[in-house]
Amino acid sequence: MIYLHLEQQFNIENCTKSMQFSIVGSGIAGLATAIRLARLGHQVDVFEQHSTYGGKLGVLEMDGYRFDTGPSLFTMPQFVRELLDEDLNQKFQVEKLPILCHYFFSDQSRFQVSANQEAFVNDASQFFIEDADAISGFLKKSKIVYDITAPVFLENSLHKLSTYTKPSGLRGIANLWRLEMFKTMNQSLEKRFTNPKLIQFFSRYATYNGSDPYQAPATLNVIPHLEFEYGAHLPKLGMRQIADILVEQSLRLGVNFRYNQKVKSINHHNQMITSLSLENNQELSTDGVIANVDAKIVYNKLLNIDVPRKIDHAENSSSALIFYWGINRTFSELDIHNIFFAESYRDEFKAIFKTHTLHHDPTIYINITSKLIKQDAPSEGENWFVMINVPYNNGQDWDQITQQAKTFILQKLSEHLKVNIQNHIVCESVLDPVTIESRTGSNKGSLYGSSSNDRMSAFFRQSNFSNQFDNLYFCGGSVHPGGGIPLCLLSAKIVSKVIFEKN
Ligand SMILES: Cc1cc2nc3c(=O)[nH]c(=O)nc-3n(C[C@H](O)[C@H](O)[C@H](O)COP(=O)(O)OP(=O)(O)OC[C@H]3O[C@@H](n4cnc5c(N)ncnc54)[C@H](O)[C@@H]3O)c2cc1C
Repeated sequence: MIYLHLEQQFNIENCTKSMQFSIVGSGIAGLATAIRLARLGHQVDVFEQHSTYGGKLGVLEMDGYRFDTGPSLFTMPQFVRELLDEDLNQKFQVEKLPILCHYFFSDQSRFQVSANQEAFVNDASQFFIEDADAISGFLKKSKIVYDITAPVFLENSLHKLSTYTKPSGLRGIANLWRLEMFKTMNQSLEKRFTNPKLIQFFSRYATYNGSDPYQAPATLNVIPHLEFEYGAHLPKLGMRQIADILVEQSLRLGVNFRYNQKVKSINHHNQMITSLSLENNQELSTDGVIANVDAKIVYNKLLNIDVPRKIDHAENSSSALIFYWGINRTFSELDIHNIFFAESYRDEFKAIFKTHTLHHDPTIYINITSKLIKQDAPSEGENWFVMINVPYNNGQDWDQITQQAKTFILQKLSEHLKVNIQNHIVCESVLDPVTIESRTGSNKGSLYGSSSNDRMSAFFRQSNFSNQFDNLYFCGGSVHPGGGIPLCLLSAKIVSKVIFEKN
């Protein structure tokens, strides 16, 4: 595959004015933006409140076990590769997984999802007793919708007229009817399939951006296409390697990282950002700021102005409760990605998005990188990242919820795996919505900024540039085009394009 570097994507010789840009936050989008702006010839300073980079792409080492603390599923690695020099691309070794996930249903049946689409369709048709053509037809339709919408909704600013006047934009508008915006994901799936287990399987893709399949528009049914088309990947040194390699590339391009420097305010005069104030009371002037911090926090705390109404009203995405467990034995029935479904998915999402409580039978996700990366756990052991989706932080008693959730999780896993799991946990660490918020600055601990439950949510997200300030830009999971690694990387691409076109 050929990756186009920025110099080739834009005609870099046209970029004559070198400016100094300050990026607030070293999450994946901040790192990608730093690389892109440095390649355009700008001077880039990255301000990070903590002593290390990566934000949600964190790492934890405990008693001989290594855990990636945040994202575990890596799709579309090409968006990382296009940022890297050739030698770094070779160094960044990534495994494409032959099996996407092991599913455990509440009736104790098990289904293994092959990454090969044809094999999946055959397996699924037999396991769920559904028409193979209906399953492959659904995936084909997902592809068509993706191909039409990606150039408009994912690769460009939604907030620029030029996006809609290009041929791809006009084609996108002409095909809006295909997006099924007026049906929910679940309604669309129920029309196509009869087996509730297959409907549950496809509904789960709503959680890839923290949404509810019973509310989110059927447009999100494009997500399975992305997983089957581009695959699930794991870097040979774990997810943290994505942040590591981006930092290595940034340093090579002269990006200046300023750790332990929390930005207290982004200062402005009339329509211009003039400087940043740090917690240590230093004030630093700047030509422009790219905020890689949750947009609501940027307005409320850093700019000290009201959050625009449409952004303020957008519902937060779900959050997560994660147990990192060092396990002292191996489980041959488990793979790298595993899901233990709730019996009633509808009730689980009602708890997450309506009553904002813990469901007594949560769907459990277990990620075990030591299945591939042997050094991530002692021999005869496994590193379990055990996650359930929970509501964003609304002041709930998270200590109590964590205790209850642990009881529910242990009971369910012990039943499915026919062994008392508690007896095999040798070390533990926990991440809840409050710690997600305090460590990464995400509003209320939501994983993906705002949810996509409203059919207009794509238009309600913060755009990649400010309407109020000429030299303020936004990247990261809370802004257009959305949360998750691939979309964060696309936000960086859009920001650098907007800056390139402006200067
Ligand atoms: C548990 C979990 C599981 C996930 N699973 C997946 C997955 O499997 N696949 C996937 O694609 N995505 C997943 N995601 C989502 C994905 O991790 C995020 O969308 C993405 O990493 C967000 O990156 P970002 O660029 O928005 O920055 P963030 O990671 O949010 O980082 C923001 C950075 O800004 C810094 N910062 C904040 N305020 C300030 C300030 N005032 N001054 C200086 N620095 C500041 C923070 O310290 C942080 O380093 C998951 C997230 C979590 C938490």
